[in-house]
Amino acid sequence: MIFDGIEEHGVEQVVFGSDPTTGLRSLIVIHDTTLGPSLGGVRMWPYPSEAEAIADGLRLSRAMTVKAAAAGLNLGGSASLIIGDPGLDKTEELLRAHGRFIASLGGRFIPVNDVGTTQADMETIGLVAAPVCDRGDPSPYTALGVLCAIRAALEVTDLAGVTVAVQGVGNVGSRLVGLLRAESAEVIVADVVADRARGVARRHGARQVPVEEILGTPCDVLAPCALGEVVTRRTLPDLACRVIAGGANNVLAQPSLARELGDIRYVPDFIANAGGLIYLEEQLLGHDDDRATERVRKVGNVVADVLAMASDGRVTTVEAATELAHARLAARRVAGNGWWSPDRPVPTYSLDRRQ
Ligand code: NAD
Repeated sequence: MIFDGIEEHGVEQVVFGSDPTTGLRSLIVIHDTTLGPSLGGVRMWPYPSEAEAIADGLRLSRAMTVKAAAAGLNLGGSASLIIGDPGLDKTEELLRAHGRFIASLGGRFIPVNDVGTTQADMETIGLVAAPVCDRGDPSPYTALGVLCAIRAALEVTDLAGVTVAVQGVGNVGSRLVGLLRAESAEVIVADVVADRARGVARRHGARQVPVEEILGTPCDVLAPCALGEVVTRRTLPDLACRVIAGGANNVLAQPSLARELGDIRYVPDFIANAGGLIYLEEQLLGHDDDRATERVRKVGNVVADVLAMASDGRVTTVEAATELAHARLAARRVAGNGWWSPDRPVPTYSLDRRQ
């Protein structure tokens, strides 16, 4: 049963961690290391069943492989789950125990914080494992990547006079609003925390609308920067934009909805929001922020490639982007120079404190 899921998702390796002393029950799912060591979030969640935890790990790890490959990164995809309530069960000893399982993988899995864990938790894991992503905020780079994706989708070099509706103005959305206003775009914002939207609107000269109106507000671009499942069968008829490109993951409730968007250009979420991951790779390589910025700007080139592949309507932009990722993986496999081979040592990253 477990092997069926592993094979169906093309997963390389699953590690189950158990430490009765700290109560740790965790798993690390390494989906693919063809392009490089795998990077993935450490998610802590009180999964109602082990089967649900495993299913989440398989799904999340595969999504990371596709995202890294499509963005042109030399990273594989993975995910790690700690079964438990972060508010009740998270202790330093439990994180260290999970860190020891991560360390046993010799650098094949690089953790970053996710739902239920923080950068401080990654620092704790970093006491026993390396490398880990435990510094720097990727949000400004995610926002910059979204900006470049929007320009590419509209086929313009600046956004003066373009109207963008930003749903959710947290870490990514608020920064995106600043970048858009700097290019004289007209910006409309909404957030379930109305005061947050009001503050961002006031600071940047944007217009605030109620949360329930943002999807149906006439605009050139809808930028979902809140949660996933924005486009559903129910919301689709209300959309009044030409382009969808934002920071949120899983914007389409089902990938097949990409076929039903009509004239709306959809930039696949994993392409539009790859800027943060690009930044993490640059950090791991010890490069400076300027280099990360330069690479994130190339998100626009990937968007242009994907739109060109989907231009005749035979494939959706989601299918085109996935094909791009798979082609990169296949080329590396055929060349026989995948990262994980016995004669290729684990690369040492600048974040490895044990050097
Ligand atoms: P965040 O929690 O800082 O911001 C999300 C904002 O959306 C919050 O202000 C929240 O109040 C608001 N919100 C939630 N539901 C809403 C709704 N229905 N309508 C309007 N507003 C709503 O998160 P973030 O770091 O800005 O990330 C935003 C999204 O982008 C998330 O889905 C995240 O998974 C994804 N993402 C983020 C990064 C990154 O670098 N932070 C990278 C890739 C993907």
